[in-house]
Amino acid sequence: MSVPSHLACHCGLVYEPSSLLANSSMPNESIMCHCNVCRHTTGSLGAWYVTLNGAPSEKSLTCTTAYKSSEKYTRYFCKKCGCNVFVRSERDGRWLACAGILERSEESKGEGSHVKAKGNVTNITCHWYLDDAVDGGIAPFLTKLGGRNVPCYRTEPSIEDNGPLKEGDLLQLQETSLTQPSSSPGRGRMLEVSCYCGGCQLLIAPPPYNSTSEGWFVPKADHGKYYARLCCCRSCRLTLGFTLQPWTYIPPSQFFTVDNEPIVFGPLTKETRQIDKLSHYQSSEFVVRSFCSVCGATIFYQSFERPYIIDLSVGVLRSKMGNTMAGEWLDWDREIVSKRDEAVDEALVEAWLRK
Ligand SMILES: [Zn+2]
Ligand SMILES: [Zn+2]
Ligand SMILES: [Zn+2]
Ligand SMILES: [Zn+2]
Repeated sequence: MSVPSHLACHCGLVYEPSSLLANSSMPNESIMCHCNVCRHTTGSLGAWYVTLNGAPSEKSLTCTTAYKSSEKYTRYFCKKCGCNVFVRSERDGRWLACAGILERSEESKGEGSHVKAKGNVTNITCHWYLDDAVDGGIAPFLTKLGGRNVPCYRTEPSIEDNGPLKEGDLLQLQETSLTQPSSSPGRGRMLEVSCYCGGCQLLIAPPPYNSTSEGWFVPKADHGKYYARLCCCRSCRLTLGFTLQPWTYIPPSQFFTVDNEPIVFGPLTKETRQIDKLSHYQSSEFVVRSFCSVCGATIFYQSFERPYIIDLSVGVLRSKMGNTMAGEWLDWDREIVSKRDEAVDEALVEAWLRK
């Protein structure tokens, strides 16, 4: 069994030895939470954590911003790279780490090393708060992991009277959530985007595509939708804090402020100051990532090599229908994920991809 060597964010300011983990063997058991708070404070489709045996060091914590999302939890993200790193329970003082920051020594060699992951980092034991996700989020696609059945709950098992969702209900969610037509009456004119605290808000106009539109980012079937895909690369993982980064790909011309002003993107990231609390982090020579400086949600990925498309993190979309996967706006690719060779939770990737 492989063991984690440490916990770290992308920029390295947050760094803890694996001895901080309550269970230092792998995979670490974890529950995937689909609640609104977890999604909107991170930009992820789901959030899953591992238990720590104490508080992270002062050195790491001084490099984070704390955000008290409710009376129950305070969330911490790296000030510099925006990675979601820790959660503290205010009730019992327990500390958790976001599962994506666990690194094994072979992965920490970094990008381009293309080391095939050795097994899974986490072992998801159940999904909860599917009711918050409305369409069930990504949970209905991740119910069979490595031969195990993973139960899904509307809220939490301890407060659930009826037990887990039935297989038929999950199949139904799986069939309907991604196939909502773009002409769906509940879709609305613009797609709203907001992090949990509301410091990063914007609007997205419908796709400008027609039957002659070309490009990898143009959906093949429904031109009224935007293309969406999961990325498993190490940079996404260590700036998000979770192992699956959901991106949708949108031409810059389609972004507007809440006052309907076009949003200006460009290599000078100061131009995106039109969005109140946006912070920027250059994760490589040609890539700038942006996150909310108040609540930590991952918002954008901009590559100067392809300025005609901006990646937007799906976990901060606010579909009018409440759908987490926003099937009425997004055309999800389940044939491929980006950078599968860098995936660390292979069982999740395997479950998500269409057989
Ligand atoms: Zn960092
Ligand atoms: Zn949650
Ligand atoms: Zn990536
Ligand atoms: Zn925010």
